[in-house]
Amino acid sequence: MPSLVKYENGIRVIDTERKTSLIADPTTIATAKKNTAAIITHAHTDHAIAFPNEGIKVYATKIASELFSTLTGKKSKNTFFMEYNKEIKIKEMNIEALPAGHLLGAAQILFKTEKKNILYTGDISFGKMKTVKEAKEPEEKIDILITEATYGKPDLYFEPREKVKMKIFNWIVEKIKENNLAVINVGNMGPAQEIIAYLNEMLEINIYCNKKTSRINEVYKKNGVKLKYKKIEEIEEKIDPKNSLILLSRGEKKIPEKIIKEKIKVKRAIVTGQAARFNYTSFEKAFPFSMHANAKEIEEYAKKIKPNKIYTLYGFESELAAYLRKKINVDARPLKIANEKIHIEEFF
Ligand SMILES: [Zn+2]
Repeated sequence: MPSLVKYENGIRVIDTERKTSLIADPTTIATAKKNTAAIITHAHTDHAIAFPNEGIKVYATKIASELFSTLTGKKSKNTFFMEYNKEIKIKEMNIEALPAGHLLGAAQILFKTEKKNILYTGDISFGKMKTVKEAKEPEEKIDILITEATYGKPDLYFEPREKVKMKIFNWIVEKIKENNLAVINVGNMGPAQEIIAYLNEMLEINIYCNKKTSRINEVYKKNGVKLKYKKIEEIEEKIDPKNSLILLSRGEKKIPEKIIKEKIKVKRAIVTGQAARFNYTSFEKAFPFSMHANAKEIEEYAKKIKPNKIYTLYGFESELAAYLRKKINVDARPLKIANEKIHIEEFF
């Protein structure tokens, strides 16, 4: 039994003989510290808490580290950078980061243990996007696939991303024609930049961003992503609804003072994958745009990779496991449940 994968406040891959263990995306510092090193797939804070902790050796892409520091104001410590498609050795274990789409600098992690190749997707999205590299499938035979399941419920319906982007564009044009100021709430790290880059190609308007989004935009620009935007602070005396769009963070309710005092008619929309699940009645429109893979996309990916075993994690893990068992006849189950059963070891 040379190696083992289990969920313990993060995805642990353990080489029991060589006493090396790695943990991907730990959610507690205490568990992270039990391991040789931690690997962080991307900068979203639910994956990235280990960055600022001196006591943990962290491996991540340079961009993930930059985005995390920019978002949280906390500096990464004891962090070693990984590059896409370059194998590195951590003690006795080889790992490789592969592009994951999703967010700039996001990586899937391929663990090459002595007997098994284990691929952990982190958060992943598929298809061509303007701001991120397309997710890449590994060249190696994969024995175990650990996949995210954020939107892994098969009855959640998502239109193709290009179509949703077009609908967002059409809505903005409609607001311009009505002489209403369009305000869109959107996740400020990932989706906001993708929407800005798309709209830059489609429209000659001023896209005004709040401070947080602006700071993240700058990291994207520094890393070669073209984005044209302005800061809300830059709004001069009068904002022209015919030439302007305001982007707010996803949960930001209040319209900035500068805009309210001008008594312009505002129309609001929200861009979030959650719009596939919930009604957003306080918005004129809710666009289900997500930079997470849906069940169908994960099914397609699993078909290409042909793993012997799939573990699901985050969100709709039971639903996705059941769907994959039925659709592609593969042994699939939620990682957290599998973890409680001792016979997980039979796979090694
Ligand atoms: Zn994420």
